[in-house]
Amino acid sequence: MTDRKKLVAGNWKMNGLMASLSEVQAMVTGAASVPGVELAICPPATLAAAIGGALKASSIGLGGQDCHAEKSGAFTGDISAEMWADVGAKYVIVGHSERRTLHGETDAIVSAKASAVIRAGLTPIICVGESLAERDSGRTLDVITTQLAGSVPDAAGQTPVVIAYEPVWAIGTGRTPTVAQVAEVHGAIAAAMEARFGAAGKGIRLLYGGSVKPDNAKELMAVAGVDGALVGGASLKAADFLRIAQGCA
Ligand code: PEP
Repeated sequence: MTDRKKLVAGNWKMNGLMASLSEVQAMVTGAASVPGVELAICPPATLAAAIGGALKASSIGLGGQDCHAEKSGAFTGDISAEMWADVGAKYVIVGHSERRTLHGETDAIVSAKASAVIRAGLTPIICVGESLAERDSGRTLDVITTQLAGSVPDAAGQTPVVIAYEPVWAIGTGRTPTVAQVAEVHGAIAAAMEARFGAAGKGIRLLYGGSVKPDNAKELMAVAGVDGALVGGASLKAADFLRIAQGCA
């Protein structure tokens, strides 16, 4: 369903003020140095319109960090996928581990949100990943397979989706899995998607996320089956974000 061009998406989480627009301008200017890599920035909703405006004439896409499954209604504080589309977004992250653990989001909720993103004409970036306890007890592949089965909606067979493998223990910790561990999980995700969706499953881009930094991006992005990165902390500074993208090229 997609050409598997490398994608580097920045998840700003609950960071960034209007002053951060200068970093976005630097990213826009620097994007020319990574022509073979697609870039996206997922800012907090407060900055979506301003950053969306700054990105409009650039090759960098806008993304949301989460959405509600409904189109509109009495859901104080929530944002629908249609609202992200309205502000010019291309992607919406769903099922990030911080949403799963801090907001109690189940696979069924993540699947409903991913379906909403597709309904709005956007591409969901669906996150999966094991906790440290799950890895230490040898359950990583079972956990990932279960999350995929419950979080990836059937519509992924007909329309582009992106999957991000983000081991929970690697997010924001400075720890990363070995190249062999990343390759094993990405191989398992690819196999599960191909088994479920056939040729369309083969086209699904698989990002790695968790403490990707300028100095480890090249090694992580060279792993077989890795089509790019979902980057948290290092996506806030244009210089770091662009160096990570260069590591992908
Ligand atoms: C993330 O939150 O998606 C993430 C990968 O964070 P970090 O890069 O900071 O580990």
